[in-house]
Amino acid sequence: MKRKVIYLLVIFIFFSISLVAKEYQVSYVNSARTDYLAVFDYFGKKYLDINELSRIFEGDVDISSDFQKATLNILQEELTFYFDNNWVKFGEKNYNLHDNVQVIGGVYFIPEYILKLFASNFFPNKLNIENDKIYINITEINNYTIRRIVIDPGHGGRDPGAVGRSLYLAEKHLVLDIAKKAKWKLESRLGVEVFLTREGDEFTSLGDRTEFANQKQADLFVSLHCNAAWNSKSNGTEVFYLSTAQSDEARAVQALENQVIKFEDEESKSRYSDLDFILYDMRQAEHLKESADLAKMCQKRLVRKLQTKNRGVKQANFYVLRGAFMPAILVEVAFVSNKYEEKKLDSSDFRNRAAEAIYESVKSFKEKYDKSM
Ligand SMILES: [Zn+2]
Repeated sequence: MKRKVIYLLVIFIFFSISLVAKEYQVSYVNSARTDYLAVFDYFGKKYLDINELSRIFEGDVDISSDFQKATLNILQEELTFYFDNNWVKFGEKNYNLHDNVQVIGGVYFIPEYILKLFASNFFPNKLNIENDKIYINITEINNYTIRRIVIDPGHGGRDPGAVGRSLYLAEKHLVLDIAKKAKWKLESRLGVEVFLTREGDEFTSLGDRTEFANQKQADLFVSLHCNAAWNSKSNGTEVFYLSTAQSDEARAVQALENQVIKFEDEESKSRYSDLDFILYDMRQAEHLKESADLAKMCQKRLVRKLQTKNRGVKQANFYVLRGAFMPAILVEVAFVSNKYEEKKLDSSDFRNRAAEAIYESVKSFKEKYDKSM
């Protein structure tokens, strides 16, 4: 009986915070982006989810392992909240929130009063609130280095890429779907611009892909592929970045991806002259460290999300990476030539997780390099 009452109470508390009392419409000055910030009703009092605050202001949240303290980093400032306490620490001072901070289901809920403090005390030049509208001055808050990303779904049109042996899935379709999913996540959650080298099932030459990225003045270039090997047992995930030093295995993948040149016409073939390669190499070398770093981040997250074998980060000399004047990586999500992985690749959920891993690695990369530049 007692247990039943506790269950009911838990359900009651859960639902009491789930009620959205209202929403603020969020606009960003000098940007077309709009967003919403929900206000939750908790026993008649108004609260904001700390994660939502972090998202709106493009910051991050750190909660202590004992849930006693939460730190919110936004607009280059740090705010500290304490469990069941009505004070927030900003700089060296503490400010009264008038109601206690609540922790429900491991999530910090902050009294809505925090927005008044934002507008009047903490960020008067960066934030303005009028009725149910919040205006954030984005030029003040982000001076991002990474704003534009080109995602390159490999192959397309008359070049199917690798084709599976049991379901006959074509690499070109699989990578296009992952690219579209990643684009959506990056644009909606990270506020960056994403361009795809192809939107449909069309043939695009290797040179055109990087030329497109250079024209768009992209800050990152991510080429997406599915692997294939003669050995049908080969499986796992690997991410490449450009380098002249390489292993034999990397050379095999490189040969496979570079095969696309045979589908290209004479005109685009002539672009791959030796001299061009040397020039490209010099430009790309400037970004080698960043490319290697992005490759590592991406490899780690892909393997974690996809539960695939970790084949590690590798270096290779892909034509498609050579023309990119920006940090560039080539992702081999899984082996379409392996019947188990082909089956996985067939699942929309699997492809969605691959896109999520790409989104997360770009986010981490951006956080690291935006701050240091
Ligand atoms: Zn490929």
